[in-house]
Amino acid sequence: MKYLTERIKHEAVALGFIAIGFSSPRRPVFIEKFTSWLAGHKNADMAWLEKNLFIRKNPWLLLPGCTTIISLAYPYPSVKPFTADGLTVSRYTCPDQDDYHKRLKKLCKEVVNVLKSYDSGCLTRICIDSAPLLERSIAYSSGIGFIGKNNMLIIPGAGSYFYLAEIFTSIPLEFEPAQEMDSQCGSCTRCLDACPTGALEGPFSIDASRCLSYLTIEYKGQIGPEEGKVMGDCFFGCDRCQEACPFNSQDNKTETILPSSHEILNMQEDEFTERFGKTALKRAGLEKIKGNIMALGAALRLHSGP
Ligand code: SF4
Ligand code: SF4
Repeated sequence: MKYLTERIKHEAVALGFIAIGFSSPRRPVFIEKFTSWLAGHKNADMAWLEKNLFIRKNPWLLLPGCTTIISLAYPYPSVKPFTADGLTVSRYTCPDQDDYHKRLKKLCKEVVNVLKSYDSGCLTRICIDSAPLLERSIAYSSGIGFIGKNNMLIIPGAGSYFYLAEIFTSIPLEFEPAQEMDSQCGSCTRCLDACPTGALEGPFSIDASRCLSYLTIEYKGQIGPEEGKVMGDCFFGCDRCQEACPFNSQDNKTETILPSSHEILNMQEDEFTERFGKTALKRAGLEKIKGNIMALGAALRLHSGP
């Protein structure tokens, strides 16, 4: 069975994954931290995080007969997307590509094909933000990285600019139990210092209701100029606690792949759907994105002042 594990690793690398780890399904090591976080109402109005806690505690319930979880990391593109007039969106968005859920699922199916070639009757399940799962905790237990003070999983040598995917399988793959990686943050506090809203309340602690990633994407209302003042140039998501991190590349290449903010503000729903309907921008929707740009624009006017 060891050779099957090696074949999977080989296939994953060939597909462009930057890290792969294996773990046995068990209660996630950070589940207590997660439930305390929920109890402290730090999840803002993301009530879906409170659902299916029983499954989050017992991830093997996601696949009958699950014996192994494969954690995979796939890199973001190396360029940061910009509008023609200098605004940007979070790196993971890739507004010129299909939503990462779809892209990663396709790649994971190739890995599943390797499992199926060994045992066509084996059960598998691919999870890409699609199941109630503590995926960073599971990836951490697979040994591929450590949790940074910004709450991100950090892979030494690769940083935190990557998507996570999991493949559950009933095949008992052979692997050495992983050594969980101690934090390598040391005395660094760059992410905490860089957070413009104080959402990073302390090391390993985040109040989602103050986080710009939440406010500009998940929050159902519209944000105002007060938030706009601290958004910098980013109208969808926020990468600042990752950009500050010395484990991430500081080579900030940019590419103009978005229309100008003026064009977005004048966009109709059908045009948005045609251009961005298959991308991650769809999650917030056009009206929310317009509201974000207006908040940012209003703040810029406030800054420029009389
Ligand atoms: S994503 Fe932005 S707002 Fe949220 S914790 Fe990080 S730096 Fe703060
Ligand atoms: S910025 Fe510093 S403290 Fe924050 S996650 Fe990176 S190494 Fe850790």
